[in-house]
Amino acid sequence: PKYVYEFAEGNKDLKDLLGGKGANLAEMTNLGLPVPPGFTITTEACRHYLEHGTMPPGLDAEIEEKLAALEAKMGKRLGQPDDPLLVSVRSGAKFSMPGMMETVLNIGLNDDSVKGLAAQSGNERFAWDSYRRLIQMFGKTVLGIDGELFEEAIDVLKAGKGVTSDLDLNADDLAGLVETFKDIVREETGAEFPTDPREQMRLAIEAVFQSWNAPRAVLYRRQERIPGGLGTAVNICSMVFGNLGMDSGTGVAFTRDPATGQQGVYGDYLQNAQGEDVVAGIRNTVPLSELERIDPKSYAELLSIMEKLETHYRDLCDIEFTIERGKLWMLQTRVGKRTAAAAFRIANQLVDQGLITLEEAVGRVTGDQLAQLMFPRFDEKAERDRLGRGMNASPGAAVGRAVFDSYTAIKWSRSGEAVILCRRETNPDDLEGMIAARGILTSRGGKTSHAAVVARGMGKTCVCGAEELDIDTKNRRMVAADGRVVEEGDVISIDGTTGEVFLGEVPVVASPVVRYFEGELDPDSAEADELVRAVHRFMQYADAARRMDVRANADTPEDAARARRMGAQGIGLCRTEHMFLGDRRTLVERLILADTDKEREEALAALLPLQREDFTGIFEAMDGLPVTVRLLDPPLHEFLPDITELSVRVAVAEARGEEHEGDLRLLQAVHRLHEQNPMLGLRGVRLGLVVPGLFTMQVRAIAEAAAERIRQGGRPRPEIMIPLVGTVQELEIIRDEAVQVMREVGEAHGVELDFPIGTMIELPRAALTAGQIAESAEFFSFGTNDLTQTTWGFSRDDVEASFFSNYLEKGVFGVSPFESLDVDGVGRLVRIAAEEGRATRPGLKLGVCGEHGGDPASVHFFHEVGLDYVSCSPFRVPVARLEAGRAAA
Ligand code: PEP
Ligand code: MG
Repeated sequence: PKYVYEFAEGNKDLKDLLGGKGANLAEMTNLGLPVPPGFTITTEACRHYLEHGTMPPGLDAEIEEKLAALEAKMGKRLGQPDDPLLVSVRSGAKFSMPGMMETVLNIGLNDDSVKGLAAQSGNERFAWDSYRRLIQMFGKTVLGIDGELFEEAIDVLKAGKGVTSDLDLNADDLAGLVETFKDIVREETGAEFPTDPREQMRLAIEAVFQSWNAPRAVLYRRQERIPGGLGTAVNICSMVFGNLGMDSGTGVAFTRDPATGQQGVYGDYLQNAQGEDVVAGIRNTVPLSELERIDPKSYAELLSIMEKLETHYRDLCDIEFTIERGKLWMLQTRVGKRTAAAAFRIANQLVDQGLITLEEAVGRVTGDQLAQLMFPRFDEKAERDRLGRGMNASPGAAVGRAVFDSYTAIKWSRSGEAVILCRRETNPDDLEGMIAARGILTSRGGKTSHAAVVARGMGKTCVCGAEELDIDTKNRRMVAADGRVVEEGDVISIDGTTGEVFLGEVPVVASPVVRYFEGELDPDSAEADELVRAVHRFMQYADAARRMDVRANADTPEDAARARRMGAQGIGLCRTEHMFLGDRRTLVERLILADTDKEREEALAALLPLQREDFTGIFEAMDGLPVTVRLLDPPLHEFLPDITELSVRVAVAEARGEEHEGDLRLLQAVHRLHEQNPMLGLRGVRLGLVVPGLFTMQVRAIAEAAAERIRQGGRPRPEIMIPLVGTVQELEIIRDEAVQVMREVGEAHGVELDFPIGTMIELPRAALTAGQIAESAEFFSFGTNDLTQTTWGFSRDDVEASFFSNYLEKGVFGVSPFESLDVDGVGRLVRIAAEEGRATRPGLKLGVCGEHGGDPASVHFFHEVGLDYVSCSPFRVPVARLEAGRAAA
């Protein structure tokens, strides 16, 4: 295979091979934009390296050939002593992983060529500064030396001279620093800093390959669900310099505001700076608009390039650029990350501008983003004590205790505390702390700083660059401009939408998007903003496009009503277990303790009217729409007191000589019903078969409630669902009883009751014998919670707390199979059951009611296997509607 592509040989669609950065550099080159010449080593070469630990055969020769071409084009050789070509070696995977992998700049400098660079640039300080940066970056990323050692050496030098800024170090100082850095390299590695430019380049390429598997990169991929096997490309690019003086600089730009979606010029610029200075947020930048004053010609050119890019990519682009002595160079572009709100607004605007179709627009917004827009926000009417303000880097309302390092953030959040991670700036090592925190606050860096970019990617609230707050990580405190102090552990509130920081807890209110879904906010009214209008527009499109219905899991009339407002087309799972708790517990205890048929029948008779009422309310709320009532599922012991507590109570009463007959009977029952493995025990249909009259009482309550609703003029549409069926015989027995009860109730009320009776498919055996089960089932609903549990043999109640974090760390899976459906295993069972069920009973109604019904990726799978509906919690209903529409579009 061909491992190396000149920029001009690629294009934006080759991201798999050239990585995002390489593909877009190629695209810009071919658009005629000013890109410094260079070439890209493919991800395929990286995969070979990661697999075999060696460079693929032929790669070296190809690199040589492309380098020779580059040297010919630039008219100078890599590291040529009197006029060196210098290159950057940058990582660039298919999916952007900001700051996670390595980059080395200024490759090609050594003791000879530094002099050539000084002579050619006429700037000796610049040459030495570039050289010390090379050793520093190379030392840290390629040689694995602790970066602090270099930083300390700079601090010592500055302290010795009595200066505070790097800019106060002159050429001689920097030349001295180069020697110090070389000493550090020798001491730390036992070898000299490699001065051969070719060797520098080769080692840097290898380091970039290796950085694919750096712990922070692995963690980031898991977070973002980026597959671990892709590998990174490497871009070798001729250097241009933003640090040649005040007529040079480097910056980042967006064609629209990535936080709000507003059109305009957004970005940060830093004069006399190189490379990552802007992204790292090390020095404070100026807003991009200032560039108009600093360098009007470059500014105008940049604007026209930005317009060109946005029209070409038909989307928001972000850009990295450098100005070298008044000449603009494009270093990178890509379709930029954005917040959820910006995603909806931008897609909406692009439709209005005629750049994309409505279908494309709906394809560009996701259910996860919609879910983010439904989070509550701070109540503007509440009293608020403002500490300061920064930039609105990633929206949301976060409240938590201030912590000043990632370790504490992780520790405290593990013990259940909500924390806000407060840092001067963040770097990739803070990733775990950022994940643990509710929100992130920094005092330095712009909207393109590491903290901002990563937080936006995670959908986490972030305020950055709050300069008025002096964040003192050493002493674990932060001081506001007015002198007030926030100590570690004090509660603060940060608003990522406005950039404000408040002392104490600010109350939150519902988001306008939720108010829209609840029917409280008319999208055509003046009160509705562009975001609500965009959501409305896309939802209408998705609803028209989708094939699957969306139902809700709800088991109270209130939840049912809310679900209906949110667009649910029925209830896919009405669990009945909560109806046996609370006040009714004693009745359930009586049922369980019953020694005789008479006692049991009395207990059931007492429960019947209560159950009936439950259903009447739900049928009323869902009038005209199907309501799938699932008969009792959990093991009976769950309705009895805790075994230890009860034992203590009995023992105490005994010791005191008090009456304890009742408790003693109860304790015996608890012992009798105790199971080692209750999830695999007496539950679901098994209860219905073992406890006489239990399921028939429930069916009677459903039938009577329905009869009553019919009498009131309603249109109840119950569906009776039997849980945990493993074989058709179980279903047949319950079904015959249920049909009998319905007939009795119907005759008694003078109405025809013929509600569908179906089953959950939540055991592998049920899925594998679905063809037989379909003979007795009028519908299937996949219980993917239990189906996941029993397919994997994972206890759904235990594994997340016990070993899943370990599994996730080791990459056994990228996301818990309880969260997102395991398509290969559990999904295969779903597919088999769907096909074989429908082979027996064409048109068999198929749905899913496990948690996966509201998970975007899973919704796409359910669409693809042909389910009729998904059912999820009321708040996920809009998410499922959108994703079902996207799946069908
Ligand atoms: C399931 O198992 O997926 C299901 C919906 O039922 P429950 O969660 O109540 O066991
Ligand atoms: Mg279940």
